[in-house]
Amino acid sequence: MIEAEKLKKSYNEKVVLDIPSIKIGQSQIVSICGPSGAGKTTLLSILGTLVKADNHKEQSLKILDQDVNKMSLNHLAKFRNKHLGFIFQFHELLDEFNVIENIIIPGLIANKEKKMLIKKATEILKILNIVDLKFNNPKNISGGEKQRVAVARSLINSPSIIFADEPSGNLDAKNADELHKLFFRLRDEFGQTFIIVTHNEKLSKISDKVLKLVDGKIQAR
Ligand code: ADP
Repeated sequence: MIEAEKLKKSYNEKVVLDIPSIKIGQSQIVSICGPSGAGKTTLLSILGTLVKADNHKEQSLKILDQDVNKMSLNHLAKFRNKHLGFIFQFHELLDEFNVIENIIIPGLIANKEKKMLIKKATEILKILNIVDLKFNNPKNISGGEKQRVAVARSLINSPSIIFADEPSGNLDAKNADELHKLFFRLRDEFGQTFIIVTHNEKLSKISDKVLKLVDGKIQAR
């Protein structure tokens, strides 16, 4: 599903990430943890193709058997939109649109039909238990609900891999637990892989794989 070799990233000649190899399989829940500044977001962004690793000849990144380093920017953007989903800590919902409109945006970018997208978004909202919020404005729903809407948006194009950067970082313990349970349920029902930057120990304990970063390197646990 994801195979990476010799991932390095430097900013201003300082190496912030240096990983010999990573393999992530299908239907895995993977936690990336470690102290602040350890390189967690950098790793997530590289695996999610949002940031490029330093270019050197031994470096490689294959996602779904495709070499993402060989893709043009346009091809990469299409690949990302089709196969990868993203959930951020501050959900990044747009207040100019209601809940269902927010959810279908990645589908509209993929040129899918609006009617079909609304039907699918409604199905997803039912699974997430928030179908009643369909026409609400994101301004008027709770933090836990907003994060569920962000999850729904990440699912609209049925991606194979979902990347989440501290998705429960802004939630209370109960809402965090519920969100994590949801990831496992989605994984069980749809076989998706989740790669999650988290400080939540409960989540990392039940993950299939934990990548613990310290100073840009993966620590053995
Ligand atoms: P974490 O997510 O574990 O807190 P990050 O991946 O955000 O860590 O950052 C790792 C290191 O890389 C930090 O020292 C950070 O300051 C640095 N860094 C991250 N992004 C940039 C950037 N765009 N420009 C310069 N330095 C960066």
